[in-house]
Amino acid sequence: MEISANAKINLTLDILRRREDGYHDLQMVMQSVSLADELTVTPAQGGVGTAVSDLHFLPTGGKNLAQMAAAAFRAATRARQGAFNGAIPDVQEIPMLMDAFHEDGFWDELGGRCLSCNACANVCPTCYCFDIRDTLDPGGASGRRERVWDACTSPQFAMVAGGHNFRATPAARGRHRMYHKLNGFLATHDRSLCVGCGRCAVACKVDISPIEVLRFFERKGTDDAC
Ligand code: SF4
Ligand code: SF4
Repeated sequence: MEISANAKINLTLDILRRREDGYHDLQMVMQSVSLADELTVTPAQGGVGTAVSDLHFLPTGGKNLAQMAAAAFRAATRARQGAFNGAIPDVQEIPMLMDAFHEDGFWDELGGRCLSCNACANVCPTCYCFDIRDTLDPGGASGRRERVWDACTSPQFAMVAGGHNFRATPAARGRHRMYHKLNGFLATHDRSLCVGCGRCAVACKVDISPIEVLRFFERKGTDDAC
């Protein structure tokens, strides 16, 4: 990837305060100009290297901003991989087992911990639930119909007119989400909707993730076979 990092001219610059993290809050008016540094970013094996040309004052070691950003990215990736590690059970019969143990107390235990915070769905790259909101203008002659993000883990998600809620408990909502990820999508599209990225495992404050569900059904499958 090649990008230009344009220079800027500050017309005003006030340093407001030094923050606890060592950076400063600034207030400025600036204008970018056509003069630019050319940056080339290429994938590398085993770490990050920085090559600098014509800029003897730019650090190339750990104080280089590109190096710092890459280090922060690596740390976040490691944390995610750690939370969703390589020991993912290969449970071929997961849809069948989920159907067989649909009423298992496992889902109540999971739901008893769930905070209904929606963090898992919000960070998931394959969650796409949405809500439709209609807003009528005061005169009643016109209005707006908007599509907004939503999550099936939200208590209101399955509530319908009259106040009935098809998935009123966290257990029912958690089970539904795991069904969508590991069962229903698999049946219709022949692939899991969970791509194993681990984002939800990091985001969930009570350690609920598909890996817990897969491990549970792995045990169930083994017990069943005995
Ligand atoms: S691990 Fe699966 S369910 Fe969790 S965020 Fe990634 S794709 Fe979504
Ligand atoms: S599973 Fe975890 S992240 Fe998802 S709604 Fe429940 S508590 Fe929040």
